[in-house]
Amino acid sequence: MEGIVIKSIEYKEKSKLVYLYTPFGMKGVKALDAAKTKLGFVTTLNWVEFEATDSKLPTVIEYSLKESFYSLYSDLSKVGVLSPMLDLLLHLEDHVNHKRIFSFFQRIMVALRDTKDPYYILSLFLVKMLAVYGVRPELKGCVLCGGTRIVHFSILEGGALCDSCASFHDKNYALYQAFRSLYFTNELEEQELPISYKELLDAIYSYYLVHANIKLKEYHL
Ligand SMILES: [Zn+2]
Repeated sequence: MEGIVIKSIEYKEKSKLVYLYTPFGMKGVKALDAAKTKLGFVTTLNWVEFEATDSKLPTVIEYSLKESFYSLYSDLSKVGVLSPMLDLLLHLEDHVNHKRIFSFFQRIMVALRDTKDPYYILSLFLVKMLAVYGVRPELKGCVLCGGTRIVHFSILEGGALCDSCASFHDKNYALYQAFRSLYFTNELEEQELPISYKELLDAIYSYYLVHANIKLKEYHL
């Protein structure tokens, strides 16, 4: 099986309990004598291929490293986006399409490694993952009346608002444009967004809190 190490914690007698995100969801695997022989298996953000015992708490038998994204932790501009991303994976429920999410997450790690704009990758990941939590924002028409003259994005209503439904003054069309671009793009390459990352990420965080009841770990801008 393949997986990306999300975290590992101390376990009995020099072993570690390793949590990997795999195409079948989150798996907990024990690594014996982790300090010496299983270093690559317990390192966060290592993408490994592994074999484990078929027991209630599986123990890793052997593994090989496919790719390591661990170096992201030594890049000060990127480390701040990792904890909310990993945190979001830890909130996933069993029944979702892990195969698809795993492949997306793996592409996101590559994009994050190569990018000069880590907050773009974080925003993209969080907005795309809304659908997985069943809280997809309504972006094609007004969330209240279906109208198409969109002028605003409402976090509370969960989507776009048209000019007759948004009958107040501080309309935020830029936030709508940013959500729409991130949600519908098939590419991981950066696009110019008409809004600051602080404002966008604050809005995405509120959206997760209001609609999915998830309080994500802080990002550091
Ligand atoms: Zn409307």
